[in-house]
Amino acid sequence: MAVSLTELAFDNRFTAELPADPMDLNRPRQVHHAAYSRVQPIPTSSPRLIAHSPEVLEMLGLDASVAETDGFLRVFSGNATLDAMDPHAACYGGHQFGNWAGQLGDGRAITLGEIVTDTGERHMLQLKGAGPTPYSRTADGLAVLRSSMREFLCSEAMHHLGVPTTRALSLAITGDQVTRDMFYDGRPALEPGAVVCRVAPSFIRFGTFEIARSRDDLDLLRQLADHTIRTHFPELGAPSAEVYTEWFAEIARRTADMIVHWQRVGFVHGVMNTDNMSIHGLTIDYGPYGWLEDYDPGWTPNTTDAQFKRYRYGAQPHIGQWNLTQLANAIYPLVDDVDMLQGALEEYTNRFNETWPAMMAAKLGIATHDTNRDQPLIGDLLEILPKTEVDMTLFFRSLADVAVSEGESEPDDETLLKPLLGAYYETDQLTGDVRAETVGWLQRYRGRIAGEGRSDHERREAMNRVNPLYVLRNYLAQLAIDDAEKGETGLTHELLDVLRRPYDEQPGRERFAEKRPDWARTRAGCSMLSCSS
Ligand code: AMP
Ligand code: MG
Repeated sequence: MAVSLTELAFDNRFTAELPADPMDLNRPRQVHHAAYSRVQPIPTSSPRLIAHSPEVLEMLGLDASVAETDGFLRVFSGNATLDAMDPHAACYGGHQFGNWAGQLGDGRAITLGEIVTDTGERHMLQLKGAGPTPYSRTADGLAVLRSSMREFLCSEAMHHLGVPTTRALSLAITGDQVTRDMFYDGRPALEPGAVVCRVAPSFIRFGTFEIARSRDDLDLLRQLADHTIRTHFPELGAPSAEVYTEWFAEIARRTADMIVHWQRVGFVHGVMNTDNMSIHGLTIDYGPYGWLEDYDPGWTPNTTDAQFKRYRYGAQPHIGQWNLTQLANAIYPLVDDVDMLQGALEEYTNRFNETWPAMMAAKLGIATHDTNRDQPLIGDLLEILPKTEVDMTLFFRSLADVAVSEGESEPDDETLLKPLLGAYYETDQLTGDVRAETVGWLQRYRGRIAGEGRSDHERREAMNRVNPLYVLRNYLAQLAIDDAEKGETGLTHELLDVLRRPYDEQPGRERFAEKRPDWARTRAGCSMLSCSS
């Protein structure tokens, strides 16, 4: 049943069950023996709603018209709170780029409260960019339109792609200016401030447990784990060493599933620090993320990571495991058995090794997948693709157009390659050895597919359900930002709409499926992003 904002049913379990910071002081500081600090969003000068997600509104059980109300704007821009809310910032730590970073916490996120819908689903509502908290360290607690737009659009795009993710309810500009040194080159500039309201069952991270463990606060560690299991994993039963282990195994499996989806759609998170890893296996904290344009496993959009490329596309699966190892270390005192936790950690690799090949086979349109048999075909393709600049999204989409079942005779090279040519950034790179290897691979591919006896039509339909046509290409997000900074939000709304049906051809919207234009190759925000947000 759709309701108004004031009729939402809040059940703030995180704050009710876990220890609060006893100090009422909104200054950067270390917060001990507490899971969170109560804090209020700061008012803004002239808030304006830029966009909202009707799907998230519906998920929360809110009536569609609620988004038009002044109350909605005020609450989700940080200018009002409802009585039933319990605004707070959570304490967590994390490993950043492989090193323990100590306390981090919600430096610019304020959770308003938790709601329970009619169907019993729990959703936390959280404002990002609504002011400082005790965890803001040296920063201002604010967010700029540029990064907020990227988070808003990408959360929703990922959801519609079928990738587990936190959601975004709304994007508002605050009317206030925020100073950012976007290139970290000592040239700060004013940018429009913005607030996103994001939504997830909880925002509990790997780092939530790491901070308690790092301080040897075993009471807090146990309280956090018990709260998490009872509230979000009740099917596991009452906490015990076995249940903590099984809980960890479940997080491992969900993390594996999430990363397999990232690899499927060509998403590069960019900052897979353990504070940015959700215990629900949801994609969280959209910062300097990016989408693979030309298929390059070594690519990362994050300029802060340019030197070692720790979080490059091809490394994401391994980093998932590394991060889980940190979580295992954090919860170790609860289990007190290395073998049990080690076994649960192996669930990650087991799950990944099962789902990744199946996912790749689906991308290729192989109906009856056999891991051993198909590995060489998959592996060889992934060796060939980086040798030229070929758009990942368009390559897999076009592969569905390579005819296999129709026509008896072996097609010539030109005919085989033709459906794929549009995916190449420089078709004249497709010569010599690479061309021969590509053709050779396509011939093997045809042979493999032909053996299945599935019609081209059927195969194409199946492939187009796993290979998206529309993704939030880095330059498209930037164009929406450029417009919105000038006060024009048409493109934001159109992108939101296109990305609702990423697997469907949408006549008249072909331009959103095009390869990255040449001007975007080196432009900031399109091909490279800093963490400044
Ligand atoms: P991130 O890399 O964006 O996940 O952020 C890492 C840490 O820095 C988290 O604790 C954030 O809350 C904090 N942080 C990032 N930007 C800001 C900001 N503008 N103000 C306060 N804290 C921030
Ligand atoms: Mg973060």
